[in-house]
Amino acid sequence: MSIHGDPRATFHPEAAERAAVIDPAAIRHNVRTIASYVQPAKVLVAVKAEGYGHGAVTAARAALEAGADWLGTAHVSEALVLRRAGIQAPILAWLHTRGTDFAAALGEHIDLGISGWEIHHVARAAESLQKPARVHLKIDTGLGRNGCTIEEWPELLRLAAQYQERGLLSVEGIFTHLAVADEPDRRETDEQLAVYRRALELAEEHRIVPDLRHVANTPGAFSRPDAHFDMVRVGVGVYGHSPFADRTAEDLGLRPAMELRTTVANVKRVPTGQGISYGLTHRVDRPTSLALIPMGYADGIPRVAVHAPVWIQGRRYQSVGRVAMDQFVVDLGEEETDVQVGDEVVIFGGDSGIEAADWGSAAGTINYEIITRIGERVPRIVQDSGLDSGQNAGPDAAGTPDGGERRDLA
Ligand SMILES: *Cc1c(COP(=O)(O)O)cnc(C)c1O
Repeated sequence: MSIHGDPRATFHPEAAERAAVIDPAAIRHNVRTIASYVQPAKVLVAVKAEGYGHGAVTAARAALEAGADWLGTAHVSEALVLRRAGIQAPILAWLHTRGTDFAAALGEHIDLGISGWEIHHVARAAESLQKPARVHLKIDTGLGRNGCTIEEWPELLRLAAQYQERGLLSVEGIFTHLAVADEPDRRETDEQLAVYRRALELAEEHRIVPDLRHVANTPGAFSRPDAHFDMVRVGVGVYGHSPFADRTAEDLGLRPAMELRTTVANVKRVPTGQGISYGLTHRVDRPTSLALIPMGYADGIPRVAVHAPVWIQGRRYQSVGRVAMDQFVVDLGEEETDVQVGDEVVIFGGDSGIEAADWGSAAGTINYEIITRIGERVPRIVQDSGLDSGQNAGPDAAGTPDGGERRDLA
């Protein structure tokens, strides 16, 4: 076992105390699964938010080894981190502020999503660097978040065509983002696709016909073949989680890439009526044994989670009482327990059969939020199981951890 993928690292005692064990083989498997499903469409893997909590560089390398064509980040700053790690693959960054360093993005050949105002800033950066910016124009087809409205789209196209003529930018893509693709029967997705097609027609009228039309996120990739176009942008599926309420990761052929684990910090017997944790929101109704789990909301365990599952030495138990900053409590049951201090605890992933989605249900949220909020106090340990199909496998398929010194394959 190594820390942060460096096989030469000395054993770090914290790693044994609590860890998010990341399996690049699962990421590779998931990328290939999605790619075969959407081909001939290309695959952009979203590695924003530290690769959904798995480590951006670890996730990016695994994705590229499995044949991902593009990487995606929200922020330019996140894309720059990948470049600094030596990753040369195409990267698209799509969420900008007045503080965004567009010149740095151009200097590091990072493609930019453009929703409106940014176009002037990007063109100015291109002018000063004497280097055309590669941009993907974003149309808001109904999500109501980022992206240009269809009303303002002709104006954005006019500006893009003008800057393109002046050699300041080249439009490489046109994209949009879906609002309800996780509920495949909702007709709003059809409406969004209709607006998108209209936006492509208008672009053509401005002689803007980019190679990369992209729409689908993970739910769109799985449920809407008519949204695949030239490329899909996938995140949560790559990390082995289902975006659908009624289909598990396993149903989709995906494998979770993170196992969140720790060990039992204390075990004790308590009498009927014992209150548990802050607020005493729970009292046991029989004599029972309690196990103390040394992870709390500072580690990303949601404070509001109730009756959440944990797996201790091969058995499933439930949390009781409020999750605190550093710890929470599990009820082991009335019968005499063989659970001991030091026993392994899996919160989700691994062999536990517990999904991040189960913690999502216990906390009134979704698996996305659970995996992206695992705290910095939890070391990410990259441990390559080698359990992927082998086809296209990178040099790590045999189980070498994702080493810092390894040459980037992009
Ligand atoms: C995060 C993101 C994605 C990936 O979404 P998933 O549901 O995780 O597949 C795709 N496109 C955009 C614009 C995003 O912000």
